[in-house]
Amino acid sequence: MSIEKCREKFIEFLSAKDLRVTQQRLAIFEACHTLGGHFTAEELLVEARGIDPSVSRATIYRTLPILIESALLREIDVGKDFKFYSIAPENANEQAQVFCIDCEKIYEVDAPFLGWYGSTVSAKFNLRPISQRLQIRAKCQQLELSGTCPNKSA
Ligand SMILES: [Zn+2]
Repeated sequence: MSIEKCREKFIEFLSAKDLRVTQQRLAIFEACHTLGGHFTAEELLVEARGIDPSVSRATIYRTLPILIESALLREIDVGKDFKFYSIAPENANEQAQVFCIDCEKIYEVDAPFLGWYGSTVSAKFNLRPISQRLQIRAKCQQLELSGTCPNKSA
């Protein structure tokens, strides 16, 4: 989905929820797209402030659940004391995540069988899946063998 289409969807979602379309909320939306990839709430705060200096940490934490509910943003819990966020891909149900617990890097892998598996298993109970995820936590082999990894921030 293009950023224009996403912005349109976000504004529609806010209106449907009786939430105001504020400059701050739009700045946070833009910042998500500028960052791309996987980012934390703190990284989002820095980026959004670059667009609109009046964005506060509280605004970030109030806007994140709205973006997630609108299905435009995805929250990724990797069992740390903070979460990662990323722009929701359209085939989110058919992506697996491999998380390196040593380097804190998330790899997204296309897993087209996942959607099939989810619907097959749900169908046994006469259910239709609306979301699903496969997340693998892994140790960094390179770090283990050589003591360094380019993905590990100092
Ligand atoms: Zn690594």
